[in-house]
Amino acid sequence: MLSFARELNLRSVPDNIIMPQSNRNCGNLEYRLDIDEAIQVIQDILDNDTAYDAERFSPGYHNPDTALPCVQNFCQNTLCINAKGEVVPLPEWDHVLGDLKKQTLRDIWKNSSKLKRLQIISLEDFPKCQSCHDIEFCGMSLGQNANENEAGDPFIIPKYICELAKATRELVHSHKNKQKETT
Ligand code: SF4
Repeated sequence: MLSFARELNLRSVPDNIIMPQSNRNCGNLEYRLDIDEAIQVIQDILDNDTAYDAERFSPGYHNPDTALPCVQNFCQNTLCINAKGEVVPLPEWDHVLGDLKKQTLRDIWKNSSKLKRLQIISLEDFPKCQSCHDIEFCGMSLGQNANENEAGDPFIIPKYICELAKATRELVHSHKNKQKETT
């Protein structure tokens, strides 16, 4: 795909993430790339897409304070409305903050206690992340967290996320070291 896009002078941005269904059915994860497969995709990106490499995979590119956007300023500017008229934080996260059949959006925005809790989420809620060496390469998201455990708890991080972030960091550092040796 990368080669095809390059031939046409198009930018191609792969996304190797599959999230569980919003009803917490994890059956689709059977089709998720395992860590080795996902790392192969990232290796292909590093080898073939220097622009993407520079944006996403440069150690030091991300400020650790902003590396996990899902825990910074969450729900400060956006909300989603599903087909039932329920207000949810993310399209993939069935966490109902209010119901437009019973309330106005303004009421939900101003008074939803669930929303207020989400808006103050910070790294303090994720002690393991605070000293994590892999944070710059982490794609953790609250919706994915919530959908991947039976309780729907957004503060439980799937093991896969941490394993992939660690493997990505190791790959990127190794790739950068090889680049330095050849220059
Ligand atoms: S890799 Fe795991 S521990 Fe590290 S920042 Fe991501 S979710 Fe947190």
